[in-house]
Amino acid sequence: MTDHIETDVVIIGAGPVGLFAVFELGLLDIKCHLIDILPKVGGQCAELYPEKPIYDIPGFPMVTGQGLVDNLMAQIEPFHPTFHLNEMVESLESIGTPEAPRFRVKTSENGTTFECKAVIIAAGGGSFQPKKPPIDGIESYEGTGVYYAVRKMEMFRNKRVLIVGGGDSALDWTVNLQPIAKRLTLLHRRDAFRAAPHTVEKMRSLVASGDMDLHLGQVSALKGDAPVLEGAVIRKDDGSELRVDCDVMLPFFGLTMKLGPIADWGLNLHENLVPVDTEKFETNVPGIFAIGDINTYPGKLKLILSGFHEGALAAQKVHRYVYPEKKLLFQYTTSSTSLQKKLGVAA
Ligand SMILES: Cc1cc2nc3c(=O)[nH]c(=O)nc-3n(C[C@H](O)[C@H](O)[C@H](O)COP(=O)(O)OP(=O)(O)OC[C@H]3O[C@@H](n4cnc5c(N)ncnc54)[C@H](O)[C@@H]3O)c2cc1C
Repeated sequence: MTDHIETDVVIIGAGPVGLFAVFELGLLDIKCHLIDILPKVGGQCAELYPEKPIYDIPGFPMVTGQGLVDNLMAQIEPFHPTFHLNEMVESLESIGTPEAPRFRVKTSENGTTFECKAVIIAAGGGSFQPKKPPIDGIESYEGTGVYYAVRKMEMFRNKRVLIVGGGDSALDWTVNLQPIAKRLTLLHRRDAFRAAPHTVEKMRSLVASGDMDLHLGQVSALKGDAPVLEGAVIRKDDGSELRVDCDVMLPFFGLTMKLGPIADWGLNLHENLVPVDTEKFETNVPGIFAIGDINTYPGKLKLILSGFHEGALAAQKVHRYVYPEKKLLFQYTTSSTSLQKKLGVAA
């Protein structure tokens, strides 16, 4: 019995770009395992904006974050990728040569070890974590009364909701949750917001019509027998205090992207991003590729469609490492029976 998993490619990150790379690799008969520290696939789309519409995915006039992830999962299904969720890639070690690369990849939680011929880093901004407000004991309400993201709007139906923050997320969720919340309160430090003007206007008209409350100040304490939240104490600028009764509090103070161990892999990082060429999206280490939000090159746009293109080109070069003796033929899925067989759709 071997002590490691042998595969052609390890993909670090199961965001939209890592998922689509499975498709491009699969068409070239390249097998892969994907690793993600999150408990589910989909990266930012599934974690940060599952119910929001995206309008710039080619061929989809509108698709939600989760809708896109679901479609990508259906599209890569024929290639049976293996997912290792809740696992953080801790170390990446080169054990081959530049001509015949080979890598050992290890995860922290379960200590799973992989050996492969190429590695594709599709790690977005690294593992992202919400910035937390400095309130004593806040952890004891997390997941029951304090949430840093809205996964399912229904969870907040008929609840007294306190949203804290003044940016796009705070304002977007204010206007989206107000119709279903029992009562919604928005709290911000000052009466100026860093959000889309029409959303700020909508919020102000809801306040003017008495359909929600707006307070200025900061949360100084949470009330309720943890883990059940019952209210928050707000300290205003003039030093006075006010209690807001609430069942849930949603602080939106932005996210910190923690690059984590990627910084230690000798990839000549530039401002926490991995420089790549634009022919193959390969890093300075032959056999290690970087696609999606994690990479940088002149003209880079952090868009999902850019990551899809990068994955397609990286797959071409990966093929040379995995099948050095085979010539790669360019084929269309529309007309190639061989590709259609791989997709399970050949007549
Ligand atoms: C609110 C919002 C709206 C957006 N709207 C649009 C839009 O309309 N159109 C558009 O094109 N783009 C949009 N984007 C940007 C888009 O979401 C990103 O470009 C896209 O998610 C990048 O995909 P990715 O796969 O490269 O990275 P990510 O989606 O960030 O996924 C990377 C994954 O890698 C994992 N990971 C990182 N490090 C490790 C590690 N060491 N071990 C294991 N796993 C790791 C992370 O947990 C994560 O799941 C939006 C972003 C936000 C926040």
